[in-house]
Amino acid sequence: MTTSERDKNRFYTEVSHDAVDTRHQGAISMPVYQSSLFAFETHQKFDEAMRDVLAASVYSRGNNPTVMYLEEKIARLEGGESARCFASGMGAISAVLFALAGTGDHIVCVDQAYGPTRELLADLSARFGVEVTFIDGKDTEGFANAIRPNTKLFYLESPTSGLFEMQDLPALASLAKAHGIITAIDNSWATPYFQKPIAMGIDLVMHSLTKYFSGHSDSLGGVVVGSSELIGLIGHRSYLNLGAAMAPQTAGLITRGLRTLPLRLERHQASALKIAAHLAAKPDVARVNHPGLESYPQKELAERLLSGSGGLFSFVTRHSVEKMKQWATDLDYFRIGVSWGGYESLVTVGSAPAKDVEEGVALASVRLYIGIEDPDELIADIERNWAKLYEPILESQSL
Ligand SMILES: *Cc1c(COP(=O)(O)O)cnc(C)c1O
Repeated sequence: MTTSERDKNRFYTEVSHDAVDTRHQGAISMPVYQSSLFAFETHQKFDEAMRDVLAASVYSRGNNPTVMYLEEKIARLEGGESARCFASGMGAISAVLFALAGTGDHIVCVDQAYGPTRELLADLSARFGVEVTFIDGKDTEGFANAIRPNTKLFYLESPTSGLFEMQDLPALASLAKAHGIITAIDNSWATPYFQKPIAMGIDLVMHSLTKYFSGHSDSLGGVVVGSSELIGLIGHRSYLNLGAAMAPQTAGLITRGLRTLPLRLERHQASALKIAAHLAAKPDVARVNHPGLESYPQKELAERLLSGSGGLFSFVTRHSVEKMKQWATDLDYFRIGVSWGGYESLVTVGSAPAKDVEEGVALASVRLYIGIEDPDELIADIERNWAKLYEPILESQSL
């Protein structure tokens, strides 16, 4: 199931070579068609194009050659027939939900899915009469038990981006197929370089292109990949009219980021594994959530489905949230901020899940994103103020 070394090498050719120049007057990079509309020589040609505004370039909310170029590239990388890009990851996710589920339909969603996705589903449930069941993604049986006659969609995210838990994708794909249920996965964490859900039987793959594809923390984007039939349905039902189209400039930037995706992922993977192992050896670190570690509870599944891991993971410490927030504030290289997938290391601190309580004290959870900096300098940064975690918090510090 996982990608072979040979396929990983091919990925480099796929992202770097596509002979754009032979189709665009020698331009080696895809030109940015910065145009909102496209004109036609005859009204007959215009009428033909209007018959399928998603196949031809008529208006850039529907189609734009620069965006289409990126869509074709990502569809190939994921092994899907077709793809649609959006203004953000949430643009792609909301288009999928609006296209596939209406009043009276039922969706089964992983309970650790990306927060805004869960909020959107809760809203669809409260205001539009879509039934939603959130379940533990590790529990394949749970999915089987949750199926109702009106279940339309399994919404998956594997690994999840907070606790990095996985779902058994091939098992869920065949369970869904047997019941005529569509499967959709948020594959942002793994990217097609490390995980290819369509080859495992999953119908739709979504990404926040804002993360690794862009890779430079300078653009927002999303994509959904799947069969021409499903992408056509999403296109006609919600893509065009919800209006979350990707801008041509953004497609140009994300295309540029995509060229170095595998190079960057190899670097993030190596550095993050080194830093995760360093943290795992600390007596005051209760747990490191990282699918590439020996201690990962779903190791068999990780080895079966993933051919690598990226730069994002979390750990639980035996210090308070307050102390960990001070530690994060004192870091030199790690910036405090949401998102991930760019060149720069990031940190956020929050409360660990309710079960992580030791001696009556709620533990802190720290999410790290490891950028492309020197991993030894990042470890030195982590260590610089670690000893301070054992000092009592002085009154004067909170004044
Ligand atoms: C960031 C993110 C999204 C949303 O993408 P945007 O581009 O911010 O809209 C969805 N899923 C995951 C796992 C994410 O990290």
